[in-house]
Amino acid sequence: MICPEVKEYKHIFGPVPSRRLGRSLGVDITPFKTCSYDCVYCQLGRTTEKSILRKEYSPASDVLEEIRAKLEESPAPDFITFSGSGEPTLHSRIGNIISGIKKITPIPIAVITNGSLLWMPEVRRALSGADVVLPSLDAGDEEMFQKINRPHTGVNFEKMLKGLNLFRKEYPGKIWLEVFLVRGVNDSETEVLKIASLMKDIRPDRIQINTVARPPADKSVRAVPLERLKKLAELAGAEVIAEYRKRHTIHQKTSQRSDVLAIIGRHPCSVEDIQEGLQITRDRSEKYLAELLREKSIIAEEVEGRVFYRMNVFKDKNKS
Ligand code: SF4
Repeated sequence: MICPEVKEYKHIFGPVPSRRLGRSLGVDITPFKTCSYDCVYCQLGRTTEKSILRKEYSPASDVLEEIRAKLEESPAPDFITFSGSGEPTLHSRIGNIISGIKKITPIPIAVITNGSLLWMPEVRRALSGADVVLPSLDAGDEEMFQKINRPHTGVNFEKMLKGLNLFRKEYPGKIWLEVFLVRGVNDSETEVLKIASLMKDIRPDRIQINTVARPPADKSVRAVPLERLKKLAELAGAEVIAEYRKRHTIHQKTSQRSDVLAIIGRHPCSVEDIQEGLQITRDRSEKYLAELLREKSIIAEEVEGRVFYRMNVFKDKNKS
């Protein structure tokens, strides 16, 4: 239930500027770091609940009510996107939520997933109503899969790959496959060619190569330099996902400090991310960030000359 005066949302955040999806309204339906993987590059830290158990983590009706309320108060986003702090296909009613959104709005729906559960027929069915599905494939074999994605014991490389192939055969929408490369881990030409050879069967509509653009929780994880990334992308017939640069002119009056905190809680953000995602002025973004820094709700970190803000996970622990 949303309080009409305060309008603090539990299951949605943003809109956030997305490099692939424009202004994207985030839908977060699994608890923080409940995931079937524990990727070395995850921006949210180590997975605390590694699971392949599907359940209704948040009531589908509450999620739909929040989406309806948000769309009434703000300019329409470019996409409504399932993503956030855990793996969305672990939610057993994601299919119902997708069909519920379709009844409310024609805004396209995207699902960002690690793709690990697509071998389950019920997961493939649940995603059939989405307009775009963005799964991951970061490894060309079991050894690299274990090294980079550190999956739950119930998922292995063969199973995951079979799921992706079956999904391609059944799913009528667009598949944009993301390959996340980490320097010194999976960025060799041999590894990228292995991944590329698997694309022949998966036939994604787009192959998108990504690397560390925001501070990962594990500081030893490093980005692949842009020139090398471009070379590897060419090798794989892929595109490099460019940094989001689109500018918007509408200014939203309703965004509050809680919206800023909700975005930062899902992934580290720069001041520009806040400004562009929430469509508020730079002054207002900086004011909210300064307040949140003062009260130690967030911390600032510099990565390659850019400042990013992330949740201060120690705040409450320090109090006790
Ligand atoms: S799949 Fe996503 S949320 Fe899960 S560990 Fe990997 S990067 Fe983090």
